[in-house]
Amino acid sequence: MKSRFTNIKNINIIILLIIAFLISFSNNYDSSFDEFEETSRARGNLLREHVQISSSFIKSMSIYGNLFFENEYVIDNKYLSLLTYEEETNTFSLDTIKGTQHEKETGNITGIGQIPEEGMVRNEINLALQYNKFFSSHFEKYPDVAWLYYTSNNNFINIFPWVSSKDFKYSENLKTVEFFKVANPENNPTRKIIWTSAYVDHAGKGLMVTLSAPVYDDDTFKGVVSLDLTNEWLNNIINSNYESYLVDETDTILATSSKSMSSDQIHKIYDLSEVSKNYVETMKTYEKETVHRLGGYYFYSASFDDTPWNLFIRVPVWRIAVEALVATFPIIVISLLLLISIQQVDERKKSELAVKKEKELFKTTLFSINEGIIVTDNKGKITLMNNIAEQRTGWKKQQAYGQDFQNVFNSVNVNTGLKSKNPVNYVLETKENFDFEQNTALISNSGSEIYIRGSAAGIISDDKSIAGVVVSFKDMTVEYEQEKEIEEFLNMNLDMLCVTDTGGIFHRINKKFEDVLGYKAEDLDGKSIFSFMHTENADKSAVNIADEKHIPSDFISRFLCRDGSYKFLEWHTQTSIGKYIYYSARDITEKVATEKKLREDAFKDQLTGINNRRLFDTIIDNEIDMSEKSNKPLSMILLDLDNFKIVNDTYGHLVGDEILKQSAQTVSSIIRKSDIFVRYGGEEFVILMSQTSEDGAVLLAEKIRAALEEKKFTVAGRQTASFGVAVRMKGESFEDWYQRLDKALYKAKESGRNKVVAASSMK
Ligand code: GH3
Ligand code: MG
Ligand code: MG
Repeated sequence: MKSRFTNIKNINIIILLIIAFLISFSNNYDSSFDEFEETSRARGNLLREHVQISSSFIKSMSIYGNLFFENEYVIDNKYLSLLTYEEETNTFSLDTIKGTQHEKETGNITGIGQIPEEGMVRNEINLALQYNKFFSSHFEKYPDVAWLYYTSNNNFINIFPWVSSKDFKYSENLKTVEFFKVANPENNPTRKIIWTSAYVDHAGKGLMVTLSAPVYDDDTFKGVVSLDLTNEWLNNIINSNYESYLVDETDTILATSSKSMSSDQIHKIYDLSEVSKNYVETMKTYEKETVHRLGGYYFYSASFDDTPWNLFIRVPVWRIAVEALVATFPIIVISLLLLISIQQVDERKKSELAVKKEKELFKTTLFSINEGIIVTDNKGKITLMNNIAEQRTGWKKQQAYGQDFQNVFNSVNVNTGLKSKNPVNYVLETKENFDFEQNTALISNSGSEIYIRGSAAGIISDDKSIAGVVVSFKDMTVEYEQEKEIEEFLNMNLDMLCVTDTGGIFHRINKKFEDVLGYKAEDLDGKSIFSFMHTENADKSAVNIADEKHIPSDFISRFLCRDGSYKFLEWHTQTSIGKYIYYSARDITEKVATEKKLREDAFKDQLTGINNRRLFDTIIDNEIDMSEKSNKPLSMILLDLDNFKIVNDTYGHLVGDEILKQSAQTVSSIIRKSDIFVRYGGEEFVILMSQTSEDGAVLLAEKIRAALEEKKFTVAGRQTASFGVAVRMKGESFEDWYQRLDKALYKAKESGRNKVVAASSMK
């Protein structure tokens, strides 16, 4: 709720609604104003029309009268004979036609004195009677006209429609009344048609206004022809929803919509006439009309051709605004409803979305996972199961619901052949979770069998009691079968075997693997096979399996044993389809050692255990090279046992061998580590000394000679040796150098044996 209106979508909607409201309000304001103007103009036009009709009628009556006298019409009129004279009152009238059909056709002529037999007045009466047919036809068309009449300057009147002389008769006073006064020559020398101001009717029809025109016989004023419009009728014409006033030039209100104004009294208006002169803002101007605004009002004012009247119709500005507002109200209501409904739709959508999400979550967690789910109530009756549970049990939901769990879920232990424990009962009884044992199989309705793994747990309700049980299980058939395959693989042969996942994490190892390396399966649990591989082999060649995590099909690696030593293993790998890698391994530690020994023996003298000639031949070039480059002296001692042939001959070959071995040991114990000691031939030895001058070599040779001389051999007693010593001369070939050595040795032999001779001493 808090962010209901801060929502951007809603703000946009609100802005749109405000715009819609403003447009609608503005339109409604305009149309409300237009309605005011149109209504006012319609009233004005209606009034104008009636003013014109009345004016032209009276004008034509006036002209008709003038022409009547001009042409000296003498018309024998049937009504003339109906005029009667009353002696008592000395008046005449047409009262005789009362109740006859003539009553509708003619006015009542009432006058003072005798009915003139002939002459001007008699002619004038004829005119009055002649007017009747015009009066009646006009009255027929405009029944709202109150009276039509001709008032003679010669003391009679013809008033239409007919009214009894008891109610209205001619009197001299009529000549003083406004309708007559305004038209007579004194006040109206130009013989115009003239509207009177409002006055109260003499014949009882209330406030009214009269249109009068004089009738002349040439220059002789004869009388006045008149037409009365009642205030009531004018009121009707100008009446509308708006405040309206019809005002004459004397500010007398001729008609008004105001109900508070009585219709038998004359009212003057001042403020409106003021208004008409001082309006502030003219909004629209027509030929005879304007629309303007003053203060809080809109004013419509109209003037008329044939009268000095002004029509004012006004409406407060606030009323237009209120009308516009009222007209706009449905939009406001609709907008609010729309907003509310959008809000509700929004919230409903939101909550629907939330519910949907929740459902989807429920679905994904419970029903979309690749597990069978069965839910029971606290009696162990099935209330819910998913599609996978349907498939695996072979039961349809409709059938299964309400059934005991055990009826639907038929599980056995494959190893024992016994029916499995009922997980639902277990949970209900113990309130503990349940895990299916290994090797549990689920037998479906149709007899098919799958291995499963799974568990059961209680649904704990608010009061901590168990409301039901959820059993979830997974088809492990593929996994079991793979395990079986692994088992077979592991038992297949006597090689070391192991299985890892494709990431190299140990999955299974066989007994032989355990035995050779000293590990138990648990020791390797979760560990990577790579972490046991030595990154370098004994021959210093990198294996790099651990780095590359890529397992070649055949490779040799040093493998860390439980005791910390390394064993050489020769691997063969096979990646199965799926998630495992199968390895067989052979312990080749001994073989590698043997090969190493063989490699080493190739450079060793079998008898003495020191380097042999092959080694010497292999390294000598390199030693010479290094000496040359470093400019360090390289010296050599050539050692030959004295009179060895005799020893052999005397004590036998085996004794000779023993002397060779012990002599070599003696030499070995004296020389430096960096000196290379070689059995060069039968009883000849060479000592190669880098960074050693000839003098240094002579000293060493002398030391060896003395040691041998001192040594007492068990059988043969004494065994001496002779020594030739030479430092290599720069650029000298090995052969030349050896030759100089040999010569020095020869010299030592020649000069009595058990001697050291330096080559440099022989020049
Ligand atoms: P000289 O002092 O002049 O060197 O006398 P010599 O007898 O040592 O000389 P010669 O080189 O003629 O003899 C070498 C003898 O060493 C011959 C051979 O029987 C003996 N000999 C060589 N190799 C072996 C061996 O491996 N074992 C034994 N027992 N004797 C060997
Ligand atoms: Mg010898
Ligand atoms: Mg010899």
